[in-house]
Amino acid sequence: MIEISEAPLAHPSLYGVAPGGAPMVFAARCTQCSRIGFPRQSYGCEACGAHGEALADVDLPATGELISFAEVHRHHGTDIDTPFVMAEIRLDSGLLLRGTLAPQHANGLKIGVRLCGTLIAGKRPGAALELRFAPEGS
Ligand SMILES: [Zn+2]
Repeated sequence: MIEISEAPLAHPSLYGVAPGGAPMVFAARCTQCSRIGFPRQSYGCEACGAHGEALADVDLPATGELISFAEVHRHHGTDIDTPFVMAEIRLDSGLLLRGTLAPQHANGLKIGVRLCGTLIAGKRPGAALELRFAPEGS
């Protein structure tokens, strides 16, 4: 198990950890039309334009369903080893987001599989924790 308190989060404005240790995604829900937006922003609702106090912060469990995925074999950055899998994930809250799966190959992945968020340290020593997704039970 990852000791969350010992490593910083790579993107603390995008995700965090619930008191029980489960990763959460930081989004905003429009109180006028109920649309959930990610990441949080102050420009206004993407659907109806409501802004200011009409956008309420919501912390969403990082669990959902695999909608689509692609295995990446060439990547110009040095922060992640290839191959890795990018995915579209429909969170249980309805929010669709793109994320990276925990290290694994696309072999055997199936659309519709349940995914849950996990925090994994980057490949450099002392690297911050990145939000990744993995098939439930893996
Ligand atoms: Zn709205």
